Amino acid sequence: MPNQQLLEHLDAKVLQGLIDRYYAGENVVALLKEFDVTCRPGDLWRHFPPDEAGRDCPMCSEPLIVPRLSRTGMRGKMTSPARCSACLHVETPRCTCATCSAARRLAVQEKERQDREAIANFCTCRWSYAPLKITPDQLSAEAAIALLSLVRCGGWLDDSSVGAIRNSVISFAPQDAEIQRQLLDVLLEYCLVAPLPNSPAGTFVTTGDDQGWQMESAHWAMLFPDPPGFIRQLECLVASSSWPEAWLADCHLVWKRLAAAECWEFCKYSVQKRDLPMPGAIALYALIENLLRDFSVSQCYQLIWASAADATDYRARKRISVHHAANFLIGACQRRADRSRTEHWLIKGFHRNFQHGRSQVSHVLHEVFLRHGEIGFYTSPIANSAC
Ligand SMILES: [Zn+2]
Ligand SMILES: [Zn+2]
Repeated sequence: MPNQQLLEHLDAKVLQGLIDRYYAGENVVALLKEFDVTCRPGDLWRHFPPDEAGRDCPMCSEPLIVPRLSRTGMRGKMTSPARCSACLHVETPRCTCATCSAARRLAVQEKERQDREAIANFCTCRWSYAPLKITPDQLSAEAAIALLSLVRCGGWLDDSSVGAIRNSVISFAPQDAEIQRQLLDVLLEYCLVAPLPNSPAGTFVTTGDDQGWQMESAHWAMLFPDPPGFIRQLECLVASSSWPEAWLADCHLVWKRLAAAECWEFCKYSVQKRDLPMPGAIALYALIENLLRDFSVSQCYQLIWASAADATDYRARKRISVHHAANFLIGACQRRADRSRTEHWLIKGFHRNFQHGRSQVSHVLHEVFLRHGEIGFYTSPIANSAC
């Protein structure tokens, strides 16, 4: 600890001389003896009065001072921030004095206010939050399926808003497939729902000048009249025999897209299990569409799994790259499907993969709308739609 009395027998000029000679690198033991100072040589600098910063404290206008450093510290280019001789202010960004702490709190609050304003502007420019006049029978089946799935996944937060789909025990739709975005886009285009500007942190993200948003974490404003009542009416309509005319055909289209998404998700699982990358998207979608003409999702799973094994074997034999092997999978699967058609192979199919359970869209489509349960998984959607 600095001892003010230790150097008080030295007048200001002599003291400055001692300080200058200390920092000039003179022998400290000799200096202690010459100036009649008693302390450990390594502690001499601690007893020097602080240097003057030459400016005043911005908080209280008293002079700022700069605490001394040892000459070793000076050689190591250490610096000591200026601090106020009267208040607790220290000239660092992390100063904990009351004024700086309050200023930082204000800056954080101002940043949060600006962020909220930017999010509100982003939302109102992008979506209408006006109440919509619509009845359940005016919805397409695709929108109705998407809406029921969203409400069941997100759950009611209050009677006009629904929570985030990422918090659902059951995933909204097969993972990593486009169908989730497509179905939620249908609801946004109808202006049936809109993301709430006060959704959880991280929903709206700013990158440079671009503002983006995450569908999974958004909370949703329900913009149709009496939302809980509307959903009850919609469920009654779905359960009735008086469906709007286009609904059945619409449901089969959603079935086909859902089946394709489930195959995509399973292909991703199969290639990951064999340390292969995903095949090219265009080729894979074309393959899946071809398979679903005659095969159920269950049978497609088996064909894809076997073809992933073929690709791995081929790679081991021919020493080809993983990308080449992933593309080989497409051809192998197509050949398997073609042969099974011409030679009438019995493809028993797989059960659902426990890592990829049924999605909410699958439950709503196959249980609530089509009411045939897992027939949707064990039969071809295209063969069915032709009936
Ligand atoms: Zn001050
Ligand atoms: Zn401060």
